[in-house]
Amino acid sequence: MADVELDLLENAIDSLNEALAKYQEGKDGEDKSYKFCVQHLSHFLELILKYYVTQSHPLLIYKNPFAKTINGESQTIGLFEAINFLKNEGHDISDKFEKDIKWLKKLRNNIEHHKFSMDVEEVEEAIGRLMSAVVEFDESHENIELSSYITAEQYDLFHELANTYEGRLRKAETEVEEALRGLDPKEDNMNVYHCYECDHDTMIINEDSSSGYMCTFCGNEESEDIEVDCGICGSQWPMWQMTSWEDGESICPYCRHDPEYVKDD
Ligand SMILES: [Zn+2]
Ligand SMILES: [Zn+2]
Repeated sequence: MADVELDLLENAIDSLNEALAKYQEGKDGEDKSYKFCVQHLSHFLELILKYYVTQSHPLLIYKNPFAKTINGESQTIGLFEAINFLKNEGHDISDKFEKDIKWLKKLRNNIEHHKFSMDVEEVEEAIGRLMSAVVEFDESHENIELSSYITAEQYDLFHELANTYEGRLRKAETEVEEALRGLDPKEDNMNVYHCYECDHDTMIINEDSSSGYMCTFCGNEESEDIEVDCGICGSQWPMWQMTSWEDGESICPYCRHDPEYVKDD
């Protein structure tokens, strides 16, 4: 019986990778590739949801697990039975996810009967939504870690579409690296601060920010670690060590004769 599960998962992943490859072709200007993307993605969703069902019991893949004999001819469940089962089992499948799955399946049927017209933008959006929904579902339930099965060529696209936390973080970190590469270590401010809002080391200099810095992950502009000039001596200190005077000028511990830093005797 384990064979059935393995086949399901393997075929699901193959379809997902194929769908991503076709999506990329579509993005590159080959409009009709979206047609194949829809077919592969629809196949993937059906298989992966059935696979999730088999995680409760392998025999649940069959319409009648109580039949006297079960063999290669035995009828298996369909997509909507899989969805119903997962919902009945207490899994959270949002109405939106279900609606998108239905929409995709209908589109696939139309494609197969050669009577479809496709709004590329609409298809792109729906595919992105479906991808993120299935990844979210995977993360919160069975957790086979879909992303670990994605081929290297499709990895970026997959994360872009799924817009997963991991993917967004990777992008934010790359943005930091790229920004630093464009700076001159002798002239420019190369500081990378910790963002206390999202807890990543992703705050870099940014002209549009009121503090002069912005987090590439969450957009936060504030950090007490940001260094500012002392209004008296001009030396740089992290904001949390500064005291503000009434005119808004920051004063460093030395200039305000902070006993922790200066021995006044
Ligand atoms: Zn942040
Ligand atoms: Zn000072």
